[in-house]
Amino acid sequence: MKNIQFPIFKTKIENSPKFDLSDPDQRKQYFELKAGPEISRLRDYLKENSFIAYMLGKKSSGKGTYAKMLKEIVSPDKIEHFSIGDMIRDLDATVADKEKQKDLVAFLEKNYRGYDDLGKIIKALEERSTKVLLPSELILALVKKQIADQPKKALFIDGFPRGLDQISYSLFFRDLIGYRDDPDVFVLVDVPENVIDERIKYRVICPDCQTSRNIKLLPTKKVGYDKDKNEFYLICDNSACEGKRMVKKEGDDKGIEPIRERLKTDEQLVEKAFNLFGIPKVLLRNSLPVDKAEEFVNDYEITPEFVHQLVGDKAKTTEKPWQVQDDRGVMSYSLMPPPVVVSLIKQLVEALDI
Ligand SMILES: [Zn+2]
Repeated sequence: MKNIQFPIFKTKIENSPKFDLSDPDQRKQYFELKAGPEISRLRDYLKENSFIAYMLGKKSSGKGTYAKMLKEIVSPDKIEHFSIGDMIRDLDATVADKEKQKDLVAFLEKNYRGYDDLGKIIKALEERSTKVLLPSELILALVKKQIADQPKKALFIDGFPRGLDQISYSLFFRDLIGYRDDPDVFVLVDVPENVIDERIKYRVICPDCQTSRNIKLLPTKKVGYDKDKNEFYLICDNSACEGKRMVKKEGDDKGIEPIRERLKTDEQLVEKAFNLFGIPKVLLRNSLPVDKAEEFVNDYEITPEFVHQLVGDKAKTTEKPWQVQDDRGVMSYSLMPPPVVVSLIKQLVEALDI
């Protein structure tokens, strides 16, 4: 982000053993070493209490990844993550199911306050004529339903309704905060646009099992070379899959270009949240300047870039730390998800005062 700067969080431990953070067992040991006491405190707290965390960041900033990793590490039973985007996409299916629709309408009749007629909205959803933008009052009521449906769980609510202007955005959160008698916290994510850009540009997907990878940032073990096109490609290594050649999605080579306006709005809304008083904030940084890395992080916490070369007729892959310019033009490293989650855990313990 350009207008506000999040502090750099120190996760470095001198003489730390090297962990392979893509390996689930080593990741567990890593979290134990870096945030063991805080994880225990959070678990104890969650036995009797809960909280609601609103995660805000640009599209593809990794919000879901961070929340799911925290849930897996701290307490899969006591923590739930849901995305407002998914919730809206699932709405058609909910309305199509008679029982679920009844339950939904009963809740909305008590909780929806808005200018559009509820009956008309439900009818529009049923007829799937939903190119209509849902009113934010309806989305607000739907989020409240999600909260009410899981009374004993800590919730990570990922995202915000699209198309909110700044005033209704403030009202949206003013109405949500304190809805349940639990502490609320904002979790704001800052990730350089160049990181999002390369995540999109180099991502590939298996046509059979839909596994998603990235030829530059997250390759499979098997890399092939296409002579005709003079390019490298990944072969799916999901054990339940036949090993198909992974493919790019149409339009991905444009990177963030098609969503540039959307990212700008997202940024303004995160800034807005940053300046909202009366709620504690957790600030997550995906990147740090190259010249600060030595002081703040262990080298295995930095996201590597994979470089493929042709040796004879075989692809050979080597890795090195990935460098990108952040939004202020500073040469930076991007962090792997685990160190960001370490900073999330530690800041959360402090924000909740536990
Ligand atoms: Zn596959």
